[in-house]
Amino acid sequence: MTALPLNPHLPLGDQRTAPWYGKDILSVRQFTHDDLKFLFGVAHEMRVMVERVGTFDLLKGKILASLFYEPSTRTSSSFTAAMERLGGSVIPISEVKYSSVSKGESLPDTVRSLECYADVIVLRHPEIGSAALAAKYARKPIINAGDGVGEHPTQALLDLFTILEELGKVDGLTITMLGDLKYGRTVHSLSRLLSLYNVKLNFVSPDILKMPADILEELQAKGVPFSQHTTLDAVLPETDVLYVTRVQKERFENPEIYEAHKNTYVINPGVMRPAKEKMIVMHPLPRVTEIGIEFDEDPRAAYFRQMEYGLYVRMALLALVLGKA
Ligand code: ASP
Repeated sequence: MTALPLNPHLPLGDQRTAPWYGKDILSVRQFTHDDLKFLFGVAHEMRVMVERVGTFDLLKGKILASLFYEPSTRTSSSFTAAMERLGGSVIPISEVKYSSVSKGESLPDTVRSLECYADVIVLRHPEIGSAALAAKYARKPIINAGDGVGEHPTQALLDLFTILEELGKVDGLTITMLGDLKYGRTVHSLSRLLSLYNVKLNFVSPDILKMPADILEELQAKGVPFSQHTTLDAVLPETDVLYVTRVQKERFENPEIYEAHKNTYVINPGVMRPAKEKMIVMHPLPRVTEIGIEFDEDPRAAYFRQMEYGLYVRMALLALVLGKA
């Protein structure tokens, strides 16, 4: 595989032979096709191990600092579960109002403090570029768990792993992303990652929530075929993966605009009638109203299985950046 760039903050003697040892996970742009193959191979092994033995001691004695400046249910708990299933432990900091951050401590100082106690730091922060800033100051690996409306690389990795495990391939698929494509960071990361494959992308959103121009330009430059729509009808029948997103309430300055668009698309059994029998519906969760619960029993509803795949991908990432692979 192609190794990711070496972490310049680690002493040379610590650059072990494990290919991802000490690496930061900041953006999906750092991965090659071969990296993904390698990562998903390890994630698959993690799945087999969890199914076989549940918990094992690969990261015994290792500590993760889990630093969340924005709300999270799945990302924070799946990183915790991942670390604990590998025999490691976690320092959880999610209520930053009770930490020194509320006293005005800078992000670089907070990460430089946490790395005195932990071997790896998972960071969610409301500002784009915050994970890269933290990585600039930290000696230990930083894993970006969402930087505002920027990226959510570990979500995109687990999304891709879900597609592979559920449909057996990525090449040749038509993937339709639906909802808030402007503020939804998961679709930003996923589109970039999918540009490494031979896929067709459909973007369906209200006009004011379209996929940002810089991402469309990147796709164009890489020759990825895509089209933009405001309704789902025309593209649903050809879709292999329907990736539904929540309208990101917390990113709207004007609540009336959020109210006007929050229910633009709702997936339910009736809407899904023209879709293929062999396809999947994904959602990074949490969902609000964009997928009705009456669709949950449909075998194509993959969003809860997707969460479980996230555990295996995060186990693989932790093991790899801590030099165990
Ligand atoms: N959980 C995802 C995220 O953190 C999706 C969402 O919040 O809508 O970006």
